[in-house]
Amino acid sequence: MRTPASGRQQALKRKRVVTSCSECYRRKQRCDRKSPCNNCLARNIPNKCIFNTLLP
Ligand SMILES: [Zn+2]
Repeated sequence: MRTPASGRQQALKRKRVVTSCSECYRRKQRCDRKSPCNNCLARNIPNKCIFNTLLP
C-alpha cells in the first residue's frame, strides 16, 4: 500500500548564516564563499574579501 506524499518533515531549522563575504554582502551579490571569492577576484579586490562569521 502506497501512501501519497503525505507531508514533509520539517525537522531542520534554518539558521541565519551569512553566506557571503563582506563585500558581496554589501553589494548583495552572490558569493561562492571562496577566499577570495569570485566577485572579489573579478573586482580585483581579493583583500576585501572578508568572511565575518558571527560567533555568539
Ligand atoms: Zn564574496
